[in-house]
Amino acid sequence: MIPQPIELTLLDPDTLQISWSDEIVIRYTIRELRENCPCATCIEKRSKPAPTELMPILKPEETQPLAITRMEPQGRYAYAIDFSDGHNTGLFTLDLLRELGEVQA
Ligand SMILES: [Zn+2]
Repeated sequence: MIPQPIELTLLDPDTLQISWSDEIVIRYTIRELRENCPCATCIEKRSKPAPTELMPILKPEETQPLAITRMEPQGRYAYAIDFSDGHNTGLFTLDLLRELGEVQA
């Protein structure tokens, strides 16, 4: 059986910490979670090379610190995460959450 999260903590607005039932503690930056969003739109976006002919820009949402505005379990296998840039279609499975982040010693 896959370990379950037993505690979610926002250490600061940029850092989420999850304590798991097998006593593993993993820290994630919100940016990392956002960049690994598993929804179809984001997967498609990541699979395309970024256009290089344009002058680089900062979109309004990229000038704001990214935060999690909501994180709720979906059944027993995933979390729905709402990000402060308005993106909320990603379902983060527990398997994915175990792959991301940095395990704390
Ligand atoms: Zn997404």
